[in-house]
Amino acid sequence: MASGDVRLSERGGEAAAAEEGPASGFVVGIDVGGTKIAAAAYPAAELRTVAELRQAPSPRLAERWETPDDAEALLDLMSELVERVARQCGPVSALGVGFPGGIEQATGRAVGAVNIRVGDLPLRAELERRLPGCRVAIDNDANVAAFAEAAVRDCSELLLLTLGTGVGGGVVSGGRLLRGADGLGAELGHFPIRADGPPCPGRCPNYGCVEALCSGQALERDAQQLAEAHPDGQIGRLLAAHGRVSARELAAAARAGDADALWLFERFARDLGIALAGYANVFQPRVIALGGGLGSAHDLFLPRALEEARQRALPHIWERCAVEPARAGEAAGTLGAALLAAAGAINP
Ligand SMILES: [Zn+2]
Repeated sequence: MASGDVRLSERGGEAAAAEEGPASGFVVGIDVGGTKIAAAAYPAAELRTVAELRQAPSPRLAERWETPDDAEALLDLMSELVERVARQCGPVSALGVGFPGGIEQATGRAVGAVNIRVGDLPLRAELERRLPGCRVAIDNDANVAAFAEAAVRDCSELLLLTLGTGVGGGVVSGGRLLRGADGLGAELGHFPIRADGPPCPGRCPNYGCVEALCSGQALERDAQQLAEAHPDGQIGRLLAAHGRVSARELAAAARAGDADALWLFERFARDLGIALAGYANVFQPRVIALGGGLGSAHDLFLPRALEEARQRALPHIWERCAVEPARAGEAAGTLGAALLAAAGAINP
């Protein structure tokens, strides 16, 4: 019913407004990470212009903290921040939270969070109880980032793929987030592309998922194996010196022409191209935006990945799909959470 719409003045926003009243005053967006929490406060009126202006407004207040270990402390921190914004800036009508795990939308509970222990708490209900009069939207962090990316591009058909330590992403279709029946879907990193591939990290029981092949940790795992096989090579010497080979060091070795490092990026690019072709065929996005920490190594894999995808995707789909670096940047988490909350994106 009232799910978010990237253009808040359009249908989804109006439906939400009629049901819950438009967000006014300030809207707070909080991005909960495994180690850090970022928060930003935006005037509600300025959030309504993001799609039109194609840029994020400047937050009136932006802060970062260490992520508390337990759920009670996390909830306390979030509600304290909203109260602080209310004191320093003005009334807060909505809070949006991007969370590192699946959020069951009917209950607002976190399901399958990997980096943060919140037990079985109904996060949304707990925040609403602590913040009377403030409506709360909560969603997976990759979903809120995709929502922000769609808004700053004014694009209603977009897929965001974040390539970092893991692989995440979100899908906006018809201006709304695709979440599946309970809000737990769109796990783009856990789409298998190699039947006999390596085990997927984390709690995923599968093999050969995109996350098991096209992530920073996949690169580091493969670099370690190559280093052990070729201890006299450049990667082998890095492993001997540092005890591990980071994705950044691997990229530097590839740029210096190391054949092993180049081979790893070649395989990474091929797998990524297979994934991009599959996502394009299934969702037909206008834009596939690539975010995440591996963006600094795009020169080592993106041209090859795009060529692989072009050869594999359905041609009439691929020719209408642009693949570009994400634009929303570091603010995507807090901005997307605030946009969802402003849109009244509290799903039934
Ligand atoms: Zn998986």
